Amino acid sequence: EVANLWDDAGEPSVTTDGVEITLVGNVGRPEEIASVLKSKLSGVGLFRTEFLFLEAAERPSTDTQAEVYGGMASCLGGLPMVVRTFDLGGDKQPPFLFTEGSEQDANLFVRGLRFSLAEGRLFESQIRAILKVTRTADLRILLPMVVGLDGFARAVAVIERIAVECGLPRTPPIGAMIETPASLYALDQILDLADFVAIGTNDLTQYMLATERGLADKSEDCSAMHPAVLQAIRQIVAAGVRLQCPVSVCGEEAGNPDFACLLVGLGIRELSLSPSQAGVVRQAIRAIDSKSAQAIAEQAIACGNTSDVRALVARWRSGATESP
Ligand code: PEP
Ligand code: MG
Repeated sequence: EVANLWDDAGEPSVTTDGVEITLVGNVGRPEEIASVLKSKLSGVGLFRTEFLFLEAAERPSTDTQAEVYGGMASCLGGLPMVVRTFDLGGDKQPPFLFTEGSEQDANLFVRGLRFSLAEGRLFESQIRAILKVTRTADLRILLPMVVGLDGFARAVAVIERIAVECGLPRTPPIGAMIETPASLYALDQILDLADFVAIGTNDLTQYMLATERGLADKSEDCSAMHPAVLQAIRQIVAAGVRLQCPVSVCGEEAGNPDFACLLVGLGIRELSLSPSQAGVVRQAIRAIDSKSAQAIAEQAIACGNTSDVRALVARWRSGATESP
């Protein structure tokens, strides 16, 4: 396991005061597993499974799905893979649902986990496929767009029922994505039931700051570095400590070295990022100490806007990098 902390340069992702940060990868297609291995990441922290459904002319069978998950798991050779169940609905409708003619017209308000619960047969087929592979591989299940305990508990109950039907002694670890503002108001209930949670900063930022996720990175004041989003992350970390529920961050911004260092300061110890960002984030983590990261994170939360946070972190990191 220690070997996975090392990058191409033979350096582990650890702060100067010895705090280890686990780096795992975000992937959207099976072939991207190669870059996870090449970047010496410790596994897959987010496998987005939507392509399996959006690009299929027909409903993919359980076996077809299981082959994809199993193939990826065997490439990973024992490293864990977090499979996020499909985050569909809204403007992402699988074409076969229309051709089958059996389903209602697309309801643009039903998406994420609500869509999974509404399309029970499709959701169950994905769960069956994942559970088939968990017998031989370390797969974990992550549920998207959780808005409260109710939907999350219903989805967990479905997974538990299918595990019993498949003759499994237990389910694999089940996690919730924290990416809606509503979920922040049900944190204790969600974290109490979840085996782990992953913060999705793409959606959390867009919904908290009333912006569009594509625009968030380009705009000055709408970014995951906004003090309100940082406060939300601090709150989730505190709940995770209180309820002994591991918390990671898997939004795109985790691959931004400035934001990654801020996350370390907020108490995050696992980042799931685009494999292309692994090297630069590893180097950034190796140049900071966790105590000053924590102090900077507190100052960042007290800032009035994103620009001030950006400036604060940039100033700190250039100092941190220059010091011997
Ligand atoms: C997120 O919202 O931050 C996230 C990781 O999920 P996705 O980008 O797939 O919506
Ligand atoms: Mg999301």
